Amino acid sequence: MGIHIGAVVTYEEGYEELAYDYLIGRAFDNRIGGFMIAEVARLLKAARKKLPFSLYVVNAVQEEIGLRGAEMIARRIKPNVAIITDVTHDTTTPMMNKVMDGETACGKGPSLTYGPAVHNKLLDVVQATAAKNKIPTQCHAVSRSTGTDTDSFAYANDGCPSVLISIPLRYMHTTVEMLHKDDIENTIKLMYETLLTLSPKTNLSYF
Ligand SMILES: [Zn+2]
Repeated sequence: MGIHIGAVVTYEEGYEELAYDYLIGRAFDNRIGGFMIAEVARLLKAARKKLPFSLYVVNAVQEEIGLRGAEMIARRIKPNVAIITDVTHDTTTPMMNKVMDGETACGKGPSLTYGPAVHNKLLDVVQATAAKNKIPTQCHAVSRSTGTDTDSFAYANDGCPSVLISIPLRYMHTTVEMLHKDDIENTIKLMYETLLTLSPKTNLSYF
C-alpha cells in the first residue's frame, strides 16, 4: 500500500462551524497562527502600509517538538523584536484547572503572557495598543517557559525582546480543537495595530 515505517499519516476530520461563532477542526494548533500572521501581512498590503522596519512573517515548523523551527529562523534573521502568536488553553474546559493555570476563556480576546521570556516594555506597548484600539485582552502568567516559540526567540543570539499574543483554544491536541471567531479577529487586529505602533524609536529600555 506504499505505507512504510516512518510514513506520515493524519486524521481526516475537517472543519465545522458551530453556534455562537465557535469553530472546530483538527490542528488549529497551530494552523490558526499561520492564518492569522498571513492575514496581518494581507491587511498591511491592502492598506498600503509602509513600516519603518523590515518585517519577516514566519510560520515556524517543529514548535511542538522543541521550538526547533523558531530556533533556526531566529538565528538566521537575528530580529530586533519578535511578536509571537500561538494557541493557549481555555482553562474553563473540563479537566483543566483554572486555579492552577489562571482563568482564560474563548471569546474574551487574545491572551497576553507575563513570564521570563516576555519583554515587559514590549508587553506594555502591546497592552497600550490594545487599550487604544479597544481590543479585549486576557492575562496569563508563567513562572518558567511559555512553551511557545517565544522561548526560542527571546533567548536567541544576544537576546531579543519578545512578546506572546495567544489565542484561547479548547480541547488542545485533539481533532476537535475549538476557537471563537472574535478571538481570531481580535488577535489579528492586535498584531496588526502593534506593528503600526512600533518604530525604531520605540524605547524598550528598562532604564
Ligand atoms: Zn500544541
